[in-house]
Amino acid sequence: MNTNYDWIVIGGGITGSSLAYELSLKQLKVLLLEKDPIADNATVYSYGGLAYWSGTTELTRRLSQEGIELHRQLSAELDGDTEFRELDLLLTCPLDHEPKTLAKNYEKFTIQPDILDVKQACDLEPLLNPNSISGALRLPHGHIHPQKTAIAYQQAFLRQGGRIIYERADGLLRKRDSIVGVVTDKNTYYSPNTVVCAGGLSRRLLTNAGIPNNIFFTHSLLIKTLPTEIKLSSIVMPAIQQRFTLEARAENLLQESGWDDYQNEFIESILDAGAVQFIDGSLCLGQISAIATNPERKLDQRLGENSIRQKISTILPMLSNIPGTCKSCLVAFTNREIAVVGNVKDLAGIYLFNGFTSTLVFAPPLAKHFANWVTGEDSKILEKLNISG
Ligand SMILES: Cc1cc2nc3c(=O)[nH]c(=O)nc-3n(C[C@H](O)[C@H](O)[C@H](O)COP(=O)(O)OP(=O)(O)OC[C@H]3O[C@@H](n4cnc5c(N)ncnc54)[C@H](O)[C@@H]3O)c2cc1C
Repeated sequence: MNTNYDWIVIGGGITGSSLAYELSLKQLKVLLLEKDPIADNATVYSYGGLAYWSGTTELTRRLSQEGIELHRQLSAELDGDTEFRELDLLLTCPLDHEPKTLAKNYEKFTIQPDILDVKQACDLEPLLNPNSISGALRLPHGHIHPQKTAIAYQQAFLRQGGRIIYERADGLLRKRDSIVGVVTDKNTYYSPNTVVCAGGLSRRLLTNAGIPNNIFFTHSLLIKTLPTEIKLSSIVMPAIQQRFTLEARAENLLQESGWDDYQNEFIESILDAGAVQFIDGSLCLGQISAIATNPERKLDQRLGENSIRQKISTILPMLSNIPGTCKSCLVAFTNREIAVVGNVKDLAGIYLFNGFTSTLVFAPPLAKHFANWVTGEDSKILEKLNISG
């Protein structure tokens, strides 16, 4: 069971699945450890949007371009349907904000939004309530089914000879200044290299192993609906997204150590009303983001569902009563530019691939760069990102 592996990847969301696949393409012997046989993570509950317009630096512009090009051919590469398509992103502008003024916040991005008045916005998205918006911003966006993409990566990984074991990583095995393996709830697995891709639970795993890190997380609440005949033509999100402000506030308000103190929990939540429809007609309606330092904390799902439906009823009234279930998950984030990627300073054998912004567009190309870096083929991008550098 506990054969030696070249790499152990902890976590089977989009980050761990794409990385396990890319490492296995390098002929490395890879074990993917995932705690849940039935996925219940941020990837499953994601909108699936690919914000390839959102590069702001040479690095993020390059990765955005690589990301969208990768997704355009990924179904063929993995021989598994990711349901990729090009889909408009409509950013709704509230009544008290001019679309032209809000567009200024988007000037830093590679691709500038089209500014739409109410009629143009409703022509593009007939489900929008014209009385609830002053207009909208339109951006070209990509869309995938995030969980089908993670599964396609995992299936391709298995065909490459990779191994998936459903066990929970409870600890990292340390020998002097190296991590040499992973202790799970059932076994111990040995490897000279372990990479943590455990999403919002990464912080706890690393902190328990005495590894300082700047991976944080929000608790997210959203509604997954049953398939419906009603057709949403775009991805709808607010032009002013409060989630980013919440993440920045949490960083300012909480000392690093505050994250590991569950007694004095800091709790604050916001609601960014948004909706996306998948190819099967089901919808994801979202989204509440809350900062609570205890990853086990349960948010009130009934209250959350009511608040989401109420807010959706003003923007997209026809979607507000579609039957569905409120779900929750943790979403990792960091105060670094893109993600926490690279090896840990002063400790051999342990790597991080985590805390992404625009995860679905950035993680897959970065998984390729990561695999090139560890095999010594090309290290330029990883050197730019490396957390121990
Ligand atoms: C409502 C919503 C909408 C979103 N929309 C978008 C979007 O449009 N575009 C975008 O790019 N991003 C979006 N995101 C964010 C994106 O979904 C996440 O950033 C991404 O899915 C995170 O992937 P991950 O692999 O890091 O984490 P996860 O998907 O959470 O996977 C982590 C995995 O690690 C496993 N794990 C944890 N601890 C252990 C352990 N100890 N042992 C073994 N396994 C473990 C978990 O079970 C889980 O399967 C959205 C998120 C939400 C909630």
